[in-house]
Amino acid sequence: MAAYDTNNIFAKILRGELPCHKVYEDDHVFAFLDIMPRSPGHTLIIPKAAARNILDISAEDYAHVARGTHKIAGVAMKAFKADGITVQQFNEPAGGQVVFHLHMHVMPRKDGVALLPPASRKEDPKVLEEHARLLIAALASA
Ligand code: 5GP
Repeated sequence: MAAYDTNNIFAKILRGELPCHKVYEDDHVFAFLDIMPRSPGHTLIIPKAAARNILDISAEDYAHVARGTHKIAGVAMKAFKADGITVQQFNEPAGGQVVFHLHMHVMPRKDGVALLPPASRKEDPKVLEEHARLLIAALASA
């Protein structure tokens, strides 16, 4: 497996070198909206630890990511009046991974509405702004 690349897109977002629509942050994880959402509210949860994927992250850091994912999934249900949540996490190109800093996908779902295919279209930044606002408000009242 390749080594962790400190210049991957999500590492740059973590360092504040690239913009994002941030939703949540604590000592261990950072959550922000996917720029090409597969459903409204599609959020990515990443560890602050440098980890390429599940194959090199420590169990402890993975547990922090799981905890952050659990938190976002709960509030996303409310913020998007969802009927369900899809959580996905891909590892290595063969596993469907495109960006090589570990990330969980949290996708709010409505009954009978399919996910868009990956990387279908870039969402309007104004829509992402509003969706981040909804999640942040739901987190504040959780
Ligand atoms: P994966 O590596 O799990 O296949 O997916 C990477 C995800 O990152 C995709 O859902 C894609 O839309 C998202 N993505 C790629 N580049 C950016 C970016 O610059 N900003 C944000 N917020 N998301 C991105």
